[in-house]
Amino acid sequence: MGGLKGLNLADKIKVIHIMRAVRFLDLEFPPRWAIITRYLLAKNIPSQYGPIDHRSAQNMYLLNWAAAKPESKSAASLFTREMIKTAEEFGLCLWTNHPSEKVKRDMPIWLHPASKKSRTASDASTYWTRCQRDKHNIHTVGEMHDFVAQLESHTRVLHEDPERSSDHDCACAMCSADEAKGCLAPVFCREQATHFLHSINQTWIPNETRDEELEKREENREGRIPKNRANTLTECFRIFTSSPPKSLTLDIDMNSPPPPPPDISRDEFTTIFTDGSGQNIGTEDACAGSGVFFGDDDPRNMAIRVPSYIPQTNNTAEALAILAAAKANKNKKKMKLPAEELVINTWWDVVGM
Ligand SMILES: [Zn+2]
Ligand SMILES: [Zn+2]
Repeated sequence: MGGLKGLNLADKIKVIHIMRAVRFLDLEFPPRWAIITRYLLAKNIPSQYGPIDHRSAQNMYLLNWAAAKPESKSAASLFTREMIKTAEEFGLCLWTNHPSEKVKRDMPIWLHPASKKSRTASDASTYWTRCQRDKHNIHTVGEMHDFVAQLESHTRVLHEDPERSSDHDCACAMCSADEAKGCLAPVFCREQATHFLHSINQTWIPNETRDEELEKREENREGRIPKNRANTLTECFRIFTSSPPKSLTLDIDMNSPPPPPPDISRDEFTTIFTDGSGQNIGTEDACAGSGVFFGDDDPRNMAIRVPSYIPQTNNTAEALAILAAAKANKNKKKMKLPAEELVINTWWDVVGM
């Protein structure tokens, strides 16, 4: 067990659960058990959230709903419920204030976590939002954005039928296609959709004028690469073990330079450097290890082999390093981890652990 000696059994189990949560949130290449687990969790969505359409029920970490926790109310296994509990303890949540345009578009539209509406109102809960979801088949922010954008180039075409010459009737191709789907008022429905889309925090609404490549070049030139950039949904997940993150509904100007770092007295924090890496990842010979460095000749410095019961990956090695650092930080001073190492392909805010 090498350097894991410092961890008691309960902590080791937590490591396993948090690693499982990381795998669970791999939305691009989910393991089969994660797909089954998502299905089981969605089977018993607590009644205060329901009914939620099956596509919005795909992943509670993406949206404003939470799975049933008590055993009697959940189809999920004890192991899954423990994973959720541990993830909660570690403050696992979706949080980025710099989503890529792809991430914005891929986000589910219903129960969006950055919606400024109440949880109920952010679901497809009105006649028109249900029309958008069920008749126009809109499930993602990208689909909603395209639906709304079509209104910009809309020109009303008079019906030849005099009975349908009122202001609300239009014979254009867009309105005719909408009517064929059962939409009663295509233009009004899209106007309502515009309001709904803009009830989401601006940071999360697709912006076609944004030049992401230029943005990245400028950030690199100025030496400021936002740590909070998320290029895929999986990269949106963060762990906050201290205070909860700022609300997703707060607009934050991403182009302003970052504020100066807080003036933290050295006595208040223990600075610990952590790192993890692996070799032959993805093969049978994969092996991964973690390093923790408190300072020259510090007896708490550690080199840890990632135990064989944990997946041998760079991410698990990084996570294990942080956990081992937390465990070894016995003087209970707040920890400061300067390494910008990536876990779940992102960073962990572990200050205050
Ligand atoms: Zn029309
Ligand atoms: Zn409609």
